[in-house]
Amino acid sequence: MTNGEIFEKIDARRAEMEDVLSYMAHHAATGYREWAASDYLAALYEKLGYTLTRAGNVPGFYTDVDTGRPGPKILLFSELDGLPVPDHPDADPETGAAHACGHNAQCAALYGVAAVLQEPGFTDGLSGSIRLCVVPAEEGVKNDFLRELREKGTVRFSGGKREFYARGYFDDCDLAFMIHTGGGTHKFTIRPGCNGGIRKTARFIGKSAHAGAPRHGINALQAATLAFTSINAIRDIFNNYDFVRVHPILTEAGTVVNAVPGVAVMENQVRASRVEVCAEINRRVNRAVAAAAAAVGARVHLTDMPGYLPGAFDKNLSDVMLEGMAEVVGRENARYLSEPWDTGCTDMGDISQVMPAVHAFSGGAAGAGHSPAFRIADFDSACMDSAKAQAAIIRKLLENGAEKAKYVVENAAVRFKSREEYVAYIESLFVDKEAVVYREDGTVLLDI
Ligand SMILES: [Zn+2]
Ligand SMILES: [Zn+2]
Repeated sequence: MTNGEIFEKIDARRAEMEDVLSYMAHHAATGYREWAASDYLAALYEKLGYTLTRAGNVPGFYTDVDTGRPGPKILLFSELDGLPVPDHPDADPETGAAHACGHNAQCAALYGVAAVLQEPGFTDGLSGSIRLCVVPAEEGVKNDFLRELREKGTVRFSGGKREFYARGYFDDCDLAFMIHTGGGTHKFTIRPGCNGGIRKTARFIGKSAHAGAPRHGINALQAATLAFTSINAIRDIFNNYDFVRVHPILTEAGTVVNAVPGVAVMENQVRASRVEVCAEINRRVNRAVAAAAAAVGARVHLTDMPGYLPGAFDKNLSDVMLEGMAEVVGRENARYLSEPWDTGCTDMGDISQVMPAVHAFSGGAAGAGHSPAFRIADFDSACMDSAKAQAAIIRKLLENGAEKAKYVVENAAVRFKSREEYVAYIESLFVDKEAVVYREDGTVLLDI
């Protein structure tokens, strides 16, 4: 099948792809609650002839297309979840969830890809296979909901791609890519990577007392404000090229003005461009927080949850993708941008640490991401061009005995060599402990 024929077949699906975009826009849900969109898409995929493997206890599914000839398996994603943006014009009136990151456009595009992969002749001359994965919970879920799901044993992790990988759903996959909807001047962009992060809560526990007699209390808010200062005091050790971000907020800071606050809660996030830097900065931030609590005689309970790992996107795969993208929109509209560094986070970062992977962007969106102004302004760029590029990239990777896909796989350097190693590392990032120990002999231990 030529690219021209493939693009025509995708054009013929335009109305169905518009339906996907619109259905999802009006049935948005946040991570691990996307049942409506998941069931809707599953029915459409089945109508195309696919046999699906459903995650079952959370939304999402995957399915395979096999060329019948041996070769690498490419993993493609579209993401299901929206965000809590109650002021968005399409927000769900009950939950406030809205597609303010364009994941509905990704799902429309991948549906177009799914449709064309089923056309007779698409796999002619290709080797290897393709897994299409419709995945939940990219935006992360709230800490308390995640804790509830972990306690029930429903999931182990926030981040649907991480969860699915940990379940073994991608054990036979060799390389992965996806195209996220974006804005900007170029129709397609690829960047070398993105930041990863760790999500943190520090609960300072002092002793409440009458504000007129503060000597009877221990002021937890003073401990928290001191923690802001102690974190700020270590910022000058951050290297510019590590793109470190530490951005705490206070979510509890006392209840009434005439009482010494007995509890204060700081929520925080540490982000950086490399796995090791993230872990090291996180350790130093915990030490600074514990020291601030100790300074005023307060206790502090630290709860760390892994955010996503930094993205380290594969350059060889990026090159093949740019070729495929250029066939849809021209070389001048498909660009590799090494600057500025992407300081956002995605669970595609995790995938890039376990197999060669790329998280690319299409055009087509307008308004700031995650804001009420975000919308899909150009359906052709966001959905049609994205689907066509993905189909063209699949062909490029798998033609000539899957020569290019094999080259990518053979030359990739990923951080984690096995699923077990990866899962153990992610589990090691969970922290749930008291960080200041007051001993009977009067000494104080910072237990971080
Ligand atoms: Zn987003
Ligand atoms: Zn997104």
